Amino acid sequence: MIPEPEGSKGTIRVLQLYPRDMNIYGDWGNALVLQQRLRWHGYTPELLEYNVGDDFPAGVDLIVGGGGQDSGQLVIQDDLQARGAVLKDLAEDGTPMLVICGLYQLFGKFFKTHTGSVIPGIGILDVETHGTDERLIGNVKVSTPEFGDVLGYENHSGQTTLGPGVAPLGTVAKGTGNNSGDGHEGARYRNVVASYLHGSLLPKNPAVADFLIRTAVERKFGTFVPGKPDDDYARLAREYAARRPR
Ligand code: GLN
Repeated sequence: MIPEPEGSKGTIRVLQLYPRDMNIYGDWGNALVLQQRLRWHGYTPELLEYNVGDDFPAGVDLIVGGGGQDSGQLVIQDDLQARGAVLKDLAEDGTPMLVICGLYQLFGKFFKTHTGSVIPGIGILDVETHGTDERLIGNVKVSTPEFGDVLGYENHSGQTTLGPGVAPLGTVAKGTGNNSGDGHEGARYRNVVASYLHGSLLPKNPAVADFLIRTAVERKFGTFVPGKPDDDYARLAREYAARRPR
């Protein structure tokens, strides 16, 4: 535990899952945004990392996980299975989580890669993913009911279909999203936000970051007292990202 600076409204422990093997297109930036926005809101961030073979930390308030190559997903698969029950309990209990691309797939039932390997998921999300020979690559804009337009970048061979136990994060206005068929992007279940979007996601989508922070703070301290984040760069990044061609 780090000592709490004077005036802090409290400490929020943010755990990043498998940053060594699951961290592409700057997904680590999601943890940095949470760290900075927590400070702006007056809370003390404590950033933790969990990699294959580590002890799983206690008292985690918020979890983020990034994308990875199929090879990275194969590296973490056994360890993730061993941690599946604890992660599922945390998700069911309402812990806010953001999982991107490769970990989105493995929070689902399974990912069958384009070479036919089946990587089991931990079944928090009622989704399944099938790799194809087509890679879905490019800039994406998603219309969401909760967060307005969500902007990011996708690069995946896996195509994900949602079961009845989850809702999509939103509908693609530009790009492909979950699969080339139904126009959905991402998944929502309890306080888990799952998305294919890298970029990283949170620097351009502060509404998603603040949802995760507010949820973590309310669960821990009862009420969230927001501060005054500086959203100028986020606004500029959003404007720029929205103008980018596919
Ligand atoms: N390896 C997975 C796929 O290609 C996930 C890719 C990613 O995380 N960007 O579908």
